[in-house]
Amino acid sequence: MLGNMQHQPLLISSLITHAARCHPNGEIVSRTTEGPVHRTTYGAVARRAQQLANALARLGVREGDRIATLAWNGYRHMELYYGVSGMGAVLHTVNPRLFAEQLEYIINHAEDQYVFFDTGFTQLLEQLAPKIPGIKGFVAMTDRAHMPTSALPNLLCYEDLLAAESDDYAWPVFNENNAAALCYTSGTTGHPKGVLYSHRSSVLHAMAACTVDGMGIGAADSLLVVVPMFHVNAWGTPYAGAMCGAKLVFPGPALDGKSVYALMRDEKVSLALGVPTVWLGLFQYVEQHGLRPKEELCLRRVLIGGSAAPAAMIGTFEIAYGADVIHAWGMTELSPMGTICCLQPKHGQLDAAERMKVREKQGRAVFGIAMKIVDDDGAELPHDGKAAGRLLVRGPWVAAGYFRHEGGQAIDADGWFDTGDVANIDADGYMHITDRAKDVIKSGGEWISSIDLENAAMGHPAVAEAAVIGIAHPKWQERPLLVVVPKAGHAVSSGILLAYLEGKVAKWWLPDDVQFVDQLPHTATGKLQKLTLREMFRDYRFP
Ligand code: ADP
Repeated sequence: MLGNMQHQPLLISSLITHAARCHPNGEIVSRTTEGPVHRTTYGAVARRAQQLANALARLGVREGDRIATLAWNGYRHMELYYGVSGMGAVLHTVNPRLFAEQLEYIINHAEDQYVFFDTGFTQLLEQLAPKIPGIKGFVAMTDRAHMPTSALPNLLCYEDLLAAESDDYAWPVFNENNAAALCYTSGTTGHPKGVLYSHRSSVLHAMAACTVDGMGIGAADSLLVVVPMFHVNAWGTPYAGAMCGAKLVFPGPALDGKSVYALMRDEKVSLALGVPTVWLGLFQYVEQHGLRPKEELCLRRVLIGGSAAPAAMIGTFEIAYGADVIHAWGMTELSPMGTICCLQPKHGQLDAAERMKVREKQGRAVFGIAMKIVDDDGAELPHDGKAAGRLLVRGPWVAAGYFRHEGGQAIDADGWFDTGDVANIDADGYMHITDRAKDVIKSGGEWISSIDLENAAMGHPAVAEAAVIGIAHPKWQERPLLVVVPKAGHAVSSGILLAYLEGKVAKWWLPDDVQFVDQLPHTATGKLQKLTLREMFRDYRFP
């Protein structure tokens, strides 16, 4: 027997319609590429998204067509999130930090029809244009006064397009399982792969993000969205914000410590979200200028994911900023939220060091995500906090396959998606990532966690950044090498660092050597690029 309740499809347009009705004056603040800080509201974004939908229809865009963006975080990008998906087309957020060949590949692979871009990417697109012949037009996301002089074919002006349209537009109602947005993983090997989000998956993910033990986003928050809108939909914040009416603060292209600090202060940011590397720049700026963030800011929480948050970073936010770090794990294929590390009442009784051990973990699965760990034969491993195995997940906002990908399905017969991460899970359900499967260091048949070693090394005050890779070893198969970027003005040696690590990790985990470099290679999404690092140290032999 069926239940007797209404069936309303979960559509992205319903989020902005709700925002326009229930919190029309909720603020959206952007540092623009043109320079000044721009202020608007959910109500205005909703109206302009409707004008945009009319403009897209006039350009001939139809349901299911892909529309690319090459843009930083800002209000116009947010209008595209709603205008494009709302009208039934698919928003393809392209990561401008990818290599030119990757950009060419994904735009052609997605068969994008138009590219909406920030004017800072004009040159990049001029070089790319001859190689992406399927593009019908390029829309500069600016007004007439700031239009770039460019020979881009069919160059259009965003504000002109909108000005020509009325905001009278009725969002179409369609199947909630229709595609809404497309995001390619950076892919360290092979071509990037497209994850095609549906309206339903995005709305359900936003609901989970607004739960207290999810991202805990609510109407009282001022959110600094440092995570880019081209990286997994800025972790779903443009959707979650509209759902609950949180103030959204978009930093545009200025992700340096000074600009981020100014926005945090001026916009009374309560919750900031970003990968670990962006916070390093903030810390440096604050340290160099002797600032007092705890007194000057209203920051209460910082959501960190994308790479492991080191204990030193969690500690700095807590002590110097008075802010709780919420450690989160996820991936493009998970929209991205998988686990969130919120403490339980019993952790209140722990001393600071024991509590930190919990907070360093990636956390517990939010409702909607089922998780298990398995050994190499696929047999499930116990949740005892020790046994480590491949992490598998499934749920309504987990990818079932990749967009137009040979081989199709990404999941096994029971619907489990292999994350490629190696993790353990404790009896309370807290998951701890020990490595990417391909980065695991195997020493004498046992696994050494490169992430745990890196985080321990990051605790030393002279270390700006640390990476650990396995180096071939005649007796042990592989042994860890620690590669460190020292902080400017700090003297440090390999002996000092190794002595510091003693007692912090198992004795047989201690790296066999430390090498110092000026910088470490990062992927387009700010993760350590271990493949390149291993390449850099290909001929290295332990002394
Ligand atoms: P891309 O695939 O484009 O590099 P993703 O954001 O999809 O970007 O990367 C997902 C991967 O990032 C995860 O599988 C995991 O290895 C890593 N990751 C994400 N969050 C964390 C975290 N909190 N701790 C450790 N690793 C993380």
